[in-house]
Order: sequence, then structure tokens, then C-alpha cells
Amino acid sequence: MNVALIAHDNKKELMMNFVIAYENILKNHNLFSTGTTGKRVMEVTSLKVHRFQSGPLGGDQQIGAVIAENRMDMVIFLRDPMTPQPHEPDIQALIRLCDVHVIPVATNLATAEILIRGLERGDIEWRKHVRD
Ligand code: PGA
Repeated sequence: MNVALIAHDNKKELMMNFVIAYENILKNHNLFSTGTTGKRVMEVTSLKVHRFQSGPLGGDQQIGAVIAENRMDMVIFLRDPMTPQPHEPDIQALIRLCDVHVIPVATNLATAEILIRGLERGDIEWRKHVRD
């Protein structure tokens, strides 16, 4: 499965704890990230991550483009709801595209935990049949 991992600055520690905790599951999948999140993930784990631009420089739009082609199977986007982001329109667009293509998307840790367990169980294997 193709899995996107994105975390706003105030959520990066949380994301690092998440990827360390679930490294054994994530290592079986293709991982994609915005620039800084991906760099940090590779520093704290042995996971290989395809990195796009940093979020504010267009990374969310690049991941959005993959979603628009229906090639992303899951998005874990730990957003910071308390801090205005310069690239807010890009974030909204990315989440909208997940809804357009019915792609599982978590925007907080509680949902991320459920999705990652679903990923391990093969709950989204159906994505293989709808992917372009
Ligand atoms: P970053 O981008 O991983 O490059 O910090 C995340 C974001 O702000 O969307």
C-alpha cells in the first residue's frame, strides 16, 4: 500500500513516536512524506520514505497530485489545529481529494492508530482494485 505521512511542526514529535511504535507495520508499505516530516522519519527509524517538497513549499500539493491520480491508499496527516498555516489552502485541497477518491485519511492520533491497525489487518486491500 502507498501511505502518506505528514505532520505539522507541533505534531512532529507525535509523528516520530507513532512511526517508531508502528515501524514493523510501516516497513511493509511504500511511504511518502512532505520534506521535513520524511527527513525526521528516516532519522528516527530505518524506514525508507519518498520525500516531496516541504509542506509550505508545495509538498502537500505534490501528495495531493498523487491522491488525484488515485494512487495513494492511506493518508496520516497529523495537523496542528491551533496554529495558522501559510499553506492552509493546500491542506484543505489534499483532504478534499481524499474524500473525492475515498481514501482513508487520519488527521489526529486516535484515528491514525485505528487506520494503522487496519493497514496491518489488510482492511484496505480493496484499494488495489480501485487504484488507477
Ligand atoms: P513538512 O511539511 O513535513 O515539510 O514540515 C508538513 C506540512 O506543513 O504540511
